[in-house]
Amino acid sequence: MPELPEVETTVIGLRAVLAGERVSAVSLRRSDLRRPFPVDLAQRVTGARVTALGRRAKYGLIDTDRGDTLIFHLGMSGRWRVDPAHDLPHDHLVIETDGGRRLALNDPRRFGSVDLVETAQLATFSAFAALGPEPLGSDFDAAYLAAALAGRHAPVKALLLDQRIVAGLGNIYVCEALHLAGIAPGQRGGDIAAGRLDRLVAAIRETLAAAIAAGGSSLRDYARPDGELGYFSTQWRVYGRAGTPCDRCGAPVQRRAEGGRSTFWCAKCQPLA
Ligand code: ZN
Repeated sequence: MPELPEVETTVIGLRAVLAGERVSAVSLRRSDLRRPFPVDLAQRVTGARVTALGRRAKYGLIDTDRGDTLIFHLGMSGRWRVDPAHDLPHDHLVIETDGGRRLALNDPRRFGSVDLVETAQLATFSAFAALGPEPLGSDFDAAYLAAALAGRHAPVKALLLDQRIVAGLGNIYVCEALHLAGIAPGQRGGDIAAGRLDRLVAAIRETLAAAIAAGGSSLRDYARPDGELGYFSTQWRVYGRAGTPCDRCGAPVQRRAEGGRSTFWCAKCQPLA
């Protein structure tokens, strides 16, 4: 499932293809993904010039010179295909440009979404209204996190996955950042000392930045026909490595499954304090 670094990498790749281009055609191959496509999507985007691309949490943003922003979410299996030589099943939305570029949004499981809102109204878009700060932004620091976690009895892992506390973190990067910070996933959020929150914020930033860098270095592959944006291989510290030695201390990586989602951690490097 794409997480924040995959979405950021996708946006970087899309920016290289779409920025400054005028959209010549928008083709919808079905009426919906997780929810219906906006009924006026093709009409509002066709003929518009793409002025900027960005990201909020796990959503990609494509701004046009008509004052609209197309908001996409990749769901479980979504990806943009760049200049595909031929159509594939599950290419649900295809955007073509005057410059001869072609982008297909492919999403076999259709948990993704596409919305179109006025750029000036972006902050009130329902999925954005209650989001916490971006983990790579300047609003997210140890003082903010201390205030957000104060008095909370829930495990720190669950609190970091709460999008109202910090936007865009998912299971993989929370497991990785907690290992890097040496904090047990089950630690009560309100019990973590200020100095350790400093380390946690730094670990979250470092983990995300390293993954974005890894994704960026995979972008050269996107130049080839049928390049796919958004997925790259990363060496995890603990995620998906249950039973293998922790690369810091050698103890076996632990795994616990809860509600269809697994937590991976090293009991030695991440003791309950
Ligand atoms: Zn360890």
